[in-house]
Amino acid sequence: MSKAQETILELHFDALTHNYNYLKSKLKPETKFLAVVKAFAYGSDSIEVAKHLETLAVDYFAVAYTSEGVALRDAGITTPILVLHPQVINFKTIIERCLEPSIYSPRILKTFIEIAEQENQKNYPVHIKFNTGLNRLGFWHNDIEFIVNQLKNTSSIVAKSLFSHLAASEDENEKDFTLKQIEDFKNIASNFETQIGYQPWFHLCNTSGVINYPEAHFNMVRCGIGLYGFGNSAKEDQNLKPIAKLKSIISQIHLIEKNETVGYNRAYKAKGFEKTATIPIGHADGISRQFGNKKGFVFINGQKAPIIGNVCMDMIMVNITNIDCKEGDEVIVFDGNYKASTLAESANTISYEILTAISQRVKRKIIK
Ligand SMILES: *Cc1c(COP(=O)(O)O)cnc(C)c1O
Repeated sequence: MSKAQETILELHFDALTHNYNYLKSKLKPETKFLAVVKAFAYGSDSIEVAKHLETLAVDYFAVAYTSEGVALRDAGITTPILVLHPQVINFKTIIERCLEPSIYSPRILKTFIEIAEQENQKNYPVHIKFNTGLNRLGFWHNDIEFIVNQLKNTSSIVAKSLFSHLAASEDENEKDFTLKQIEDFKNIASNFETQIGYQPWFHLCNTSGVINYPEAHFNMVRCGIGLYGFGNSAKEDQNLKPIAKLKSIISQIHLIEKNETVGYNRAYKAKGFEKTATIPIGHADGISRQFGNKKGFVFINGQKAPIIGNVCMDMIMVNITNIDCKEGDEVIVFDGNYKASTLAESANTISYEILTAISQRVKRKIIK
């Protein structure tokens, strides 16, 4: 593997295949797999990731916003795409581009029916979202009668699936709450099915749900983070491989004396004779200012170099006093070994945020 000569996000598709196969191995053969590719496929490259997953015969995609689905359609993706969080202003586009909306409230249901009727649609597939405790998006259990009435009064749309989302599927301490969510979802599903008179697909689990609640896979699961190599636990992380490796380079090395300062606001002061390296990655690339002042770190020739001073827009400075390295050497921000989840912990955040923060300015390099 050639060494990075500028800041680069490598995307390893052998790891993506591995993660997909690992997650699939947790499912019954008939359970469908929806790949969540929102937010540039968790900061990677949604188009390339979706194309690769299509070659693996993934059943469904999900994105958060309509524009993300449009980008996939523009790139030639033909697999069904669920839009998790559409707005009324998007409904015509959704229909034009064969995207499938999550219908999460009475307002959204009524308006989508109106527009589907105007557009002369028959049985347009939609996905009915129920709230079972996350209290974010979704109908309540007692909305079923209203939904069924609306659906029975139109032939323009059909409930292709009914779904909900777990609030704490990764958290063992919240097991009772999660089991209650599963129970509530089952009740909603059976009430809905009885009243509507046909059986939509049911789905509930995200990655941690797939791993921790095999009894709740229903007809389909929705995996995001697991595909990208993180299982929200040290144990599961061992079975998955991070697809993204964020690498950079030492642009310049400085030797500084005691009491000299580094960076804006003179936030770091040398304790003695020290060696610093300047690296071309900053908060505009996704290394948040929270990582400044020794919270965050990078790896150079296998050794940990803490970020000193404040993170700049386009650069960080790291302490390399005890590291054998030279200008032009490769820098690892995270990879399969030095994990994004570890870097995340240092600033009290999670792998999801580190990955999705990598800005579009950082070049992506697909490695097949
Ligand atoms: C983002 C999202 C997922 C994926 O969750 P992971 O924990 O990344 O697997 C699944 N379902 C919904 C509704 C989501 O918003």
